[in-house]
Amino acid sequence: MALSGKTALVTGSTSGIGLGIAEVLARNGADLILNGFGDWQTAAEQLSRHGGRVGYHAADLSAPAQIEDLFNYARREFGRVDILVNNAGIQHVAPVENFPTERWDSVLALNLSAVFHCTRLALPEMRAHNWGRIVNIASVHGSVGSLGKAAYVAAKHGVLGLTKVVALETAQSGVTCNALCPGWVLTPLVQQQIDARVAAGEPPDAARMALLAEKQPSQAFVTPQQLGELTLFLCSQAAEQVRGAAWNIDGGWLAQ
Ligand code: NAD
Repeated sequence: MALSGKTALVTGSTSGIGLGIAEVLARNGADLILNGFGDWQTAAEQLSRHGGRVGYHAADLSAPAQIEDLFNYARREFGRVDILVNNAGIQHVAPVENFPTERWDSVLALNLSAVFHCTRLALPEMRAHNWGRIVNIASVHGSVGSLGKAAYVAAKHGVLGLTKVVALETAQSGVTCNALCPGWVLTPLVQQQIDARVAAGEPPDAARMALLAEKQPSQAFVTPQQLGELTLFLCSQAAEQVRGAAWNIDGGWLAQ
């Protein structure tokens, strides 16, 4: 299988997009290290059916010392990380002048600084083996803004900048670094925003459709499975010269 003998660390992989990506990588032969605060046992059981090893580390990625622990665990138990998917992320919606400063700090710590810390810790061994894949799950919000999402949009713009620099610094090696930029994907992170509209009086179906209608011309959600397949492509030999890309997968959101 394409990824036999490779170890993939997918951050925030106990639900949503991370779990979808982990599933596709495991199905294609990778050993998996899961991370996140959700039901990891169920996720691990699901992925183990593909026959590879599955590990889990509970690091809170907003704490750099815990990221170091995660990488020590990866080295001890799996040897090294060949594929790093920087996926964990949170959202908080509020206008700038009311944006709680502690929320700003936590969104930036997880959505941006953790990408830096995971990358700096993964790179030395990737370079030593002259092979590695870093896939950063950014967002359409890496390129455009939306009301109320100051911290998230700032962090995702930062992720695209960091992706470019890492791609340049690894350009003459077998390590690549790219970003995926999804539009709406129906995960707990987005359900939270639908729930807020329902709480404000909209019926659930109407709230879901309104969210799509405002931004996503296809009027259909992107799926975690589709993001997994795109990640798999970026891990392939065919993608060796895809470097520093910000790949939109957004139902046309950014084509407008
Ligand atoms: P989600 O809420 O379903 O999953 C987030 C994961 O991160 C969970 O496993 C959670 O436990 C974990 N997590 C949260 N805080 C953490 C922390 N401090 N340390 C470690 N893990 C932590 O969200 P999702 O929608 O799957 O989002 C995944 C990524 O995709 C995020 O970076 C998000 O910004 C991005 N994204 C999502 C959408 C969307 O529409 N859902 C669109 C574009 C980009």
